[in-house]
Amino acid sequence: MRSKVLALALLLPLAACGKQVSAPATQGVTDAAMSQPPAGEWLTVAGDHNETRYSPLDQVNDKNVSQLGLAWSADLDTARGQEATPLMHDGVLYVSTAWSMVKAYDAKTGALKWSYDPKVPRAKLVDVCCDAVNRGVALYGDKVYVGTLDGRLVALDQKTGKEVWSKLTIPEGSHQAITGAPRIVKGMVVLGSAGSEYFSRGYIAAYDAQTGNQVWKFYTVPGDPSKPAEGKHLEAAAKTWSGDFWKTGGGGNVWDGITYDPVTNLIYFGTANAEPWNPAKRGGTNQKAGDSLYTASIVAVNADTGAYAWHFQETPEDRWDFDSTQQVIVADLDLNGTKQHVIMHAPKNGYFYTLDAKTGNFISGKPFVQGINWASGLDPVTGAPKINPEARYEVTGKPFLGFPGAIGAHSWTPMSMSPKTGLVYIPVNNTPQVYAPDPDWKPGTTGFQLGIDASGGNIPADKAVRAGTMAAMTGALVAFDPVTGTEKWKVPYTSPTNGGILSTAGNLVFQGTAQGEFRAYTADAGKQLWSFPTQSGILAAPMTYTIDGEQYVAVLVGWGGVWDVSGGKLVSKMTPNISRLLVFKLNAKGQLAPMPAMADRVLDPPPFTGTPAQLAMGSKIYTNSCSVCHGNVAVAGSLNPDLRHSAALGNPKLWQQIVHDGLLSQNGMVAWKDQFSPDQIEAARIYVVKRANEDKALGDK
Ligand code: CA
Repeated sequence: MRSKVLALALLLPLAACGKQVSAPATQGVTDAAMSQPPAGEWLTVAGDHNETRYSPLDQVNDKNVSQLGLAWSADLDTARGQEATPLMHDGVLYVSTAWSMVKAYDAKTGALKWSYDPKVPRAKLVDVCCDAVNRGVALYGDKVYVGTLDGRLVALDQKTGKEVWSKLTIPEGSHQAITGAPRIVKGMVVLGSAGSEYFSRGYIAAYDAQTGNQVWKFYTVPGDPSKPAEGKHLEAAAKTWSGDFWKTGGGGNVWDGITYDPVTNLIYFGTANAEPWNPAKRGGTNQKAGDSLYTASIVAVNADTGAYAWHFQETPEDRWDFDSTQQVIVADLDLNGTKQHVIMHAPKNGYFYTLDAKTGNFISGKPFVQGINWASGLDPVTGAPKINPEARYEVTGKPFLGFPGAIGAHSWTPMSMSPKTGLVYIPVNNTPQVYAPDPDWKPGTTGFQLGIDASGGNIPADKAVRAGTMAAMTGALVAFDPVTGTEKWKVPYTSPTNGGILSTAGNLVFQGTAQGEFRAYTADAGKQLWSFPTQSGILAAPMTYTIDGEQYVAVLVGWGGVWDVSGGKLVSKMTPNISRLLVFKLNAKGQLAPMPAMADRVLDPPPFTGTPAQLAMGSKIYTNSCSVCHGNVAVAGSLNPDLRHSAALGNPKLWQQIVHDGLLSQNGMVAWKDQFSPDQIEAARIYVVKRANEDKALGDK
């Protein structure tokens, strides 16, 4: 008997699973405050636990929004993509910027209170697809939390911005990164990482908010099969993979959406694509595309222990980079006369999902864009997609022109749900993509690990073709009724990747555009009522707050955050990056400084002298490894150098010193000598020379 009791006692701490967490905050930002934010405060990145990005404030409304003006603005010290939504507590605005910096401003006057720079090594840029971005901070007790691009979770003192503690949360030496906002759950900071194209095994973990010590960790994909699985759910998942997928990591990173639901005590999160994209290139023998659990899925875990609760895979057999990492909204919907506690999700794959929050059971899945062709529809009972056989490009061996493409019908840019209109406002992209298998592909050492050859989809240097292709890439703001699964209204945009959404009780929806406008629409009908020219494209979602009885609306401006294509179009420097925090209120008359003149450039490349074989090799290398930063077909936007103008283009030795040896690694351009031979690197130069000459002939600058 005694031994049995002892054994039970020993088992108990194991059964409880998670480690002890420090006492929850009782001062400053508390759990209760986050559940019921004080009037006028914005305490979590999405405004509330349900991640609706809806504000009950209505002082600024559809009757007076035309009087909205610039109250104050703050120039940022990083001219890169800005993706964060500020938080407001006790009259102070807290916001993260590019390179994981954090700033605190007096929310009324805009006076800078403090600024924190985690000094992320610039070479870390090679480990991220989409710029040195950060999507926000968390507040709890007397601290501010930020995840840094190089994988640290840092706690700062809210008053001073001084570092209290800093913990490396990604595996030491890994290519993973952090771009997402941490979430607070009962004394813990919950965070994942990015990297599903960079030898990454996805996970989400909880850390003690006081000490930074890890409380629990949940892997989203199985690991090395020679080691014990970290839970039954991973034993089950391992059966859905084939070959040596674990050697390249498997992907499934949790790089954005994380929602804590106090009603179910579950944390819901979305997982990224399977890695590498091409299932036939995951290593080993017996290559076939299984479901690859739990990639491209919504997963729910117990908030206290991180134990698996349920999963729903939105994209089985992912080979299209269909991340499901977007924000998860929780709501009580009236469905067929019954109130149901649900989650709602609009992932890259183009379908809007409604699931039972407690069980993950499929309720509905309806397209929120037209023209989806990777699947012909969803099973009405299970939600499983009917995959188009032509979309299995590694099976057909042929390129597949897929819609949506890897940018997604909807990516991280936040949507919003208004309980007043019952609508969900989705920033939508219409961007097809060519997926072509690369039979010669092997895992590299640096940069993207995809297993496809994107160079076949390069846009030819022909004015009409280029114009046609660009015209086909568009965006929209879609107001979607989650109950009927239909579009209520839509505002079309001329380019994809427009900003995130804020909806308010003033019958307003706010959104910034890729072209550099901050707009307000009526929430019920989508009628544009107001706009403000912001000089640079907007990606971030706005927020709103009140001080001394006045309502303010704040948004970060700063184009970037996607492949370096200006304003979503193949035009160099169309949208400059002038990064700022803009704050508006009624009847304010602030002005921005005039836009600086853009330097006038002339394309002056050396003559093309390469061989067809060099050109073909260079095109493939450039497209699959360089274009992610330097732009499609060597046309860069404004974030990274446009190589057609590079001084090294006519200097093969300098080109080798930069690309092979890493001469500019301090600027973020790392050495590629482990991945490419000098001949291959020379071929990439020859390709860019060719492209520069083609564009010069077209009259481009
Ligand atoms: Ca991805």
